[in-house]
Amino acid sequence: MRALTKWLSSTNISKLYINGEWIDSVKNETMPVINPATNETIAKVGVARKEDVEKAIVAARNAFDNGDWKTFTAFQRSELLQKTAKKIEENVEELAKLETLNNGKTLHEARGDMEAAADTFRYYASIIMAPMGETLQVEEPLISKVVREPIGVCGQIIPWNYPLLMAAWKLAPAIAAGNTCVLKPSELTPLTAIRLFEMIEEIGFPSGVVNLINGTGVDTGQPLVESHLVDKIAFTGGTETGKRIMQNSVCNLKRVSLELGGKSPNIVFADADYETALDHASFAIFNNSGQVCSAGSRLLVEKSIYKNFVKDLVKVTEKIRVGSGFDEETQMGPLISKNHLEKVRSYIELGKKEATLVCGGNKVTNDKLSNGNFIEPTIFMDVDPKATIAQEEIFGPVLSVIPFESEEEALQIANDSPYGLAAGIFTNDVAKAERMSRKLRVGVTWINTYEQNLIEGPWGGYKASGIGRELGTYGLDEYTEVKQMINTLNVAPTGWFSN
Ligand code: NDP
Repeated sequence: MRALTKWLSSTNISKLYINGEWIDSVKNETMPVINPATNETIAKVGVARKEDVEKAIVAARNAFDNGDWKTFTAFQRSELLQKTAKKIEENVEELAKLETLNNGKTLHEARGDMEAAADTFRYYASIIMAPMGETLQVEEPLISKVVREPIGVCGQIIPWNYPLLMAAWKLAPAIAAGNTCVLKPSELTPLTAIRLFEMIEEIGFPSGVVNLINGTGVDTGQPLVESHLVDKIAFTGGTETGKRIMQNSVCNLKRVSLELGGKSPNIVFADADYETALDHASFAIFNNSGQVCSAGSRLLVEKSIYKNFVKDLVKVTEKIRVGSGFDEETQMGPLISKNHLEKVRSYIELGKKEATLVCGGNKVTNDKLSNGNFIEPTIFMDVDPKATIAQEEIFGPVLSVIPFESEEEALQIANDSPYGLAAGIFTNDVAKAERMSRKLRVGVTWINTYEQNLIEGPWGGYKASGIGRELGTYGLDEYTEVKQMINTLNVAPTGWFSN
């Protein structure tokens, strides 16, 4: 921890990483970074205003249009990504501690995030080496080839729930495809991104290829979104912000990909493996303190097992150890901020009017935790599927349990949501699982498991859960333009107007 404390007062913290250098912002402003477990200030980071954002964009533009970056082969880009993966791996423990300090999540969760971030860089380092493009079978004398090219300058805006992992999800495919990037982390969780960019500097990425600007959504994120020099915006965060980003990016018809919120149904049929379903139901909503876009926040349980299932789930939930992420015994850390805690508590108050509270519902007030944003894992049962707590994303450890009687009813309730990110299905009937899986209007379904995120597969949602897909080859495609190149074996005039 001593090395961490020293790093938190080092000079790069208050700077921005633009064009391969750590520089002061024009106004030399800083903003506090708060530890959500104590609400104490842990560092002061540099703030980018419009002038600074423009500098970063120009650096990225210049690197894309005029720099050596264009001449980098896939092999060379792959090497940079491999080195980034290695650096993260070598520093997993340090990065995990930094993430826990800034985000509050348990060290166990943070270590998993760091490993997944390294894997993301390694995955894109490898798939960019695969053959790309196609030759079409067209009529002679024509030849048609389809190639993929980088889009250009990518503005990447990320949230606070998985700070370093979201940076990896954005940077790795963009760099692999040959783009240049300007990354804006959440104002609440800028620290691991700063540390990552120190590693990027050590590795020796060409100047301007990756740039880091910290600051708020309105002052720092918005100028990035509104810039005519930016070709693409990739965003992960709340649906309302996503809509604003889409509106603000129309000036030059940027490519926009959005990974937004959810209210994911987790459906448990009576024929499911009971213990497995129970275990996953609690993991689905309470991991990362429920601050997960794909959290299984609506638990649909078949009526014949409903009462027992809820009773057993309450027993499991009451044993969850809430506390500091640094305590290895802790299973659930604090919420990200005082504001967010208040938002979650207001939903709980509303829930008390809409349904039956069976577990939790309170801020944790014991001596050690009372200054932090700790809340008990909370369960409401007999929730009307139309109730606000069953429709709106709470983004905290608050579960709405809803009974159902038939497959059709489960499907109807599950799809009755503005969101469509993910769904869980627990059953031992393979055909039923397959039927449900196909009819659910969501981007990913999990059968007899939950929250398995595969780097190799597409991640993203239907409806208000977003536009586009991250991860896998789909994620790489989102960072490319498609060009068709038509040639002819017969170089001759058409004669169209000569008769
Ligand atoms: P936001 O969606 O507002 O923040 C995500 C990112 O967008 C942050 O970097 C933020 O900046 C930035 N941002 C905010 N406003 C703008 C803007 N006008 N232009 C450009 N960038 C902008 O999340 P919040 O922290 O406000 O959380 C609100 C709700 O969003 C949560 O309660 C939750 O429901 C949902 N959410 C969903 C996430 C997901 O993974 N799908 C992740 C986080 C939140 P900054 O934070 O620096 O102000």
